[in-house]
Formats: sequence, C-alpha cells, structure tokens
Amino acid sequence: MKRAFNFNAGPAALPLSVLQKAQEQFVDFNGAGMSIMEMSHRSAAYEQVNNETEALVRKLLQVPDNYKVLFMQGGASTQFAMLPMNYLTAGKQAAYVDTGAWAGKAIKEAELIGNTVIAASSASDQYMKMPALDQLSLDSNTAYLHLTSNETIGGTQFKTFPNTGNVPLIVDMSSDILSRPLQIEQYGMIYAGAQKNLGPSGVTLVIVREDLVAASNKEIPTMFRYSTHAKSNSLYNTPPSYSVYMMKLVLEWIDEMGGVDKLAAYNEHKTNLIYNVIDNSDGYYRGCADIDSRSRMNITFRMANEELEKQFVKESEQAGFVGLKGHRDVGGLRASTYNAVPTASCEALAQFMVDFQKRNN
Ligand code: PMP
Repeated sequence: MKRAFNFNAGPAALPLSVLQKAQEQFVDFNGAGMSIMEMSHRSAAYEQVNNETEALVRKLLQVPDNYKVLFMQGGASTQFAMLPMNYLTAGKQAAYVDTGAWAGKAIKEAELIGNTVIAASSASDQYMKMPALDQLSLDSNTAYLHLTSNETIGGTQFKTFPNTGNVPLIVDMSSDILSRPLQIEQYGMIYAGAQKNLGPSGVTLVIVREDLVAASNKEIPTMFRYSTHAKSNSLYNTPPSYSVYMMKLVLEWIDEMGGVDKLAAYNEHKTNLIYNVIDNSDGYYRGCADIDSRSRMNITFRMANEELEKQFVKESEQAGFVGLKGHRDVGGLRASTYNAVPTASCEALAQFMVDFQKRNN
C-alpha cells in the first residue's frame, strides 16, 4: 500500500497507526462481537470510550476542574450560532476580531442574533497579518470576545492571546487545537471541529468554563444550550459515537508522541522545511501571510501566475501529492500540515518545490 502525501485542509490526514488500530477493532470491538458503531451509546463500553476521550483531552491540555469538556455535533459552524444564542442576550454586545474567512462567518452568525462589534480587524492588511490585540478596549456589557486562532484559508495564526479581564475570551481553534500548549485558564471557551487535528469529521470539541455553562440561555431550544450537554456528559442525545472513538485513538497517538509540547516543536520543524523553500526561492514562491503571522498548520503561497499554479497542482498530483490547491475563494496554493502529516510528506513537498522551480524557471 502506498499512502498519499496528504496535505488536505480538512478532513485531513490521520496517523496511519490510528487507522490501523481502528481497522483491527472495526468488526469486533474488544471482544464484544460487534463494532463500536453497532453499540448502544448507553452501554458501559461506550460510556467508557466517552469518559476516556474526555480524560485524554483533560490530560493533554491540562484542563482545570472548573471546565467542562463536551463532544458536540454540527461542526464549528454550529458553534458560530450557538455562542451568540447563549450569551448575546438583551442589553449585551459581542466583540469579534475579524481575521478573515472563518472569523467572518462567525461574525455573520452573531449579527443575526444581536449587537455585534468588531474589536480589531486585519481587513486593511488583506487578512494576511494577525491584528495586534494588546490595546483592545471592551465595553463593560461585552458578553464575550471571539477570535479565530488559526485562519485555515488565509494561513495566518495568532502566536499569543490577549488578556481580556472579566470578558470571557472565546476562541475557534478548529484548525490548530492540540498543535501547541495552551493555558486553558485564559479562555472562557474554546471549540474545534475535529476533522483537522482531532480525528474524522462529525464531532466538535468544546471546552467551557462552568460559569459560562451555568449562564447558558434557558430560552432557546434544549439542544442549543451548553448546559444541556454539560449536564448529560455529552450524552443528551445520540452522540457521533464512531467519531468520538476515533478522536480517542488520535488523542492516544498524541500522548504517545509526547503531548502538545513535542507536537509544537514537530510542527515547527515540518513547516520550516516548506517555508524555507519559499523564502529561498528568490520570489518564485511567495508566502501569502506576513512572516510573524505565518501559520504552522496551513501554509499558503502563490506563484507568478495562475497558469503556473495550475501546472504546479497538476504535476504535484502526478507525483502523489493531494490537496495543494488553495481554497476556492482565494486561489493560490495551500499545504495543510496538521499534526498527523508526517515529516516525510513535508520533506517530499519541499523537494518537489525545489525541483519544480529548477524545471520551470
Ligand atoms: N473554523 C475554522 C477555523 C475552520 O477551519 C472551519 C472548517 N474549515 C470551520 C470553522 C468550520 O468547521 P465545520 O465545517 O466543522 O463547521
């Protein structure tokens, strides 16, 4: 079997060992005579999977006891709506940092619900630079400040997070969760769709402080309240059991890799291989993001013209690379280098880029 050099933006590469473990247990989960997919979500076996997955999240991110770890559905896009539904109530405003495509989608949802203000924006930098957040001024009636830690399409990433005092900081970490250490106490809530760094699609990880759980809006439908999911240990309704199980396997793999500190160094090494080729190409490849805002998860770059970019994509596919075409909204090229993308894939891409330049310069 030959594995592709998979640079997909999400769903994305999973560790081979995780896939193999899942394969081993696919038909018969721990001698139960059935797949985990065929089991009741109320069974002891599934409850154990649910609890072990939570315990791994707590261990890997050092989640304090006054935070709930929830497994939810509807993707990060549902969180865009749930957040204002729960917290942007009458008399309050929600503050957002506008960093590009994904922040923009979150802002649109909040605007449907209530008073939404833009606390900082990088629109004037064409979203290629993360805005400085050290001078934020937030009104006292601000329900929360929302930001996007890594813009998956633009290829920008925050390196640090602001101190927001009494205003809860809520961060969409869909495309960089578990790629580096975090101080969970800094946040009111973080959330992430699983399909980049956590596993397959279908489950969304939410880590939320208890006072925010308690403050969930009681006047919205049951499924949309954070308190519903917190009270029922993420088992209020039928959970995406297979996705949660796969997430558990990915978290075990992260643990074996040495945890988030090790992954941060690993991701820096992997992305440097490719950024170095860009920086040493005499402008043949042009990185999109400002150097200080460069993402360690999504490397975006351009070439002289779209014809050449098309040729690059075509030849890369012939050479076994997948997913290097930029997002349809922005064009260009993008290599997504999530946790599970092996060094060998990045080395191969770096070499391919050098060779392509030599052939076509
Ligand atoms: N936020 C970010 C940063 C993302 O990259 C994505 C998906 N690419 C989303 C939100 C939306 O996630 P979902 O498709 O799970 O709703």
